[in-house]
Amino acid sequence: MSDLRVRFAPSPTGTLHIGGARTALFNYLLARKEQGTYVLRIEDTDVARSTQESVDAILDAMHWLGLSCDEGPFYQSDRFDLYKQKVQQLLDEGKAYKCYCTQEELDAKREAAMKAGGKPKYDGTCRNRTDSPDLPYVVRFRLPSDDGVTTFIDRIKGKISIRHEELDDLIIQRTDGTPTYNFVVVVDDAEMGMTLVIRGDDHINNTPRQILLYEALGYPVPEFAHVPMILGADKKRLSKRHGATSVMDYQKMGYLPEAMVNYLVRLGWSCGDEEIFSMSDLIEKFTLENVGKSAGVFNPDKLLWLNAHYIKSGNPQRLAGLLEEFLTQKGIDIPSGPDLVEVVKSLQERASTLVEMADGAAFYYAAELEYDEKAKGKFLTTDQRATFQAILDNLAQCQQFNEEILEKTFAAVMEVTGLKFGKIAQPLRVALTGGTASPSIYQVLQVLGKERSLARIQRAMEQLG
Ligand code: GLU
Repeated sequence: MSDLRVRFAPSPTGTLHIGGARTALFNYLLARKEQGTYVLRIEDTDVARSTQESVDAILDAMHWLGLSCDEGPFYQSDRFDLYKQKVQQLLDEGKAYKCYCTQEELDAKREAAMKAGGKPKYDGTCRNRTDSPDLPYVVRFRLPSDDGVTTFIDRIKGKISIRHEELDDLIIQRTDGTPTYNFVVVVDDAEMGMTLVIRGDDHINNTPRQILLYEALGYPVPEFAHVPMILGADKKRLSKRHGATSVMDYQKMGYLPEAMVNYLVRLGWSCGDEEIFSMSDLIEKFTLENVGKSAGVFNPDKLLWLNAHYIKSGNPQRLAGLLEEFLTQKGIDIPSGPDLVEVVKSLQERASTLVEMADGAAFYYAAELEYDEKAKGKFLTTDQRATFQAILDNLAQCQQFNEEILEKTFAAVMEVTGLKFGKIAQPLRVALTGGTASPSIYQVLQVLGKERSLARIQRAMEQLG
């Protein structure tokens, strides 16, 4: 074990998105690589927007991607007492104060400041108030010095500085008594012993404020690594307009988790010109040094390409297990058909997603094959009767269907009919699969087996008119 402690801290206000999943993955990989600890913390202090449904959706997605945590999930909603105590500590030490300004007053001040060409920041009205009226209040963190500079070295972005004159007195507790993100994230990251915070660079402006809070609370400051955001092809921030952004939508579209993991990691990290990485490769090779400084562009075609790669090279047994759900959704009764693993093997080369594979597998399960109209018109014609009869007679002789026997059988059919293989295969394909595109004829025959194959040929012959 190393001392490295990292965390992923999603807010449960929706599903797990591509960007969040990548942040989780980077944390996970670094923890695994350095034998550190990976903590999952659910940031549900925004009670109005957090839902159990979102928590479940996030946990499902993490599970699907294989990003199991070492500690957690912890819930911030279980920790309100701790936050209250820490707010009180800052109040007692004079590092925070109660602010009684109403929203209307603040809005008016902001407007006036902007009109005067200044920054719309809090003017410090309540900073030195000594009375404590019986009015609603927020708690603000007193900026330690108005003219200082806070600097940190980001592990990805390098040196980042902010002048305190850019900042104002941050609200750390709302009028309803709930603490705010910037405050609780500091308390938790410190209390949970985080040594490195890896998160999206949408939080980079929060970091100097958080550093000031660490210092005020007497906590050690962790290191930070801010990961650049993900853009759509139009270079705008990735959103629904660019297609599915929720990780589990991809599961439903028939993507494999290893393809998603491989895709996500390459969105912002590289290792020479390698493209294919298993989780164990990544655990070995991942470093923050090779995370790029600029935004990654989401490319659905590349994700699809990776998915096709993992389907092609995947373990058929496992793929069969994953495919079941997709077949069942299509109303297919799996036990009524041929061996599912053999079905998968015949389709691995041809399907880019499990949805495509399920579509491609449907013909194997048809009790009454539906013929594609065009294919039927072209290939199930009266003049094919002799060909079909020859196929039927020869296949009926086979003890079993394997590559060698089928080759001999079709050599015999070619001899009897005087036709080339292609002339025999295409009508047969329509008879066996209903269409003109399918795995190879031998594969189809082997997967269907003798009984089903002969029945399908017979039925096709009945269609010949
Ligand atoms: N809950 C925050 C978010 O979802 C986490 C930010 C952080 O990692 O500090 O954006």
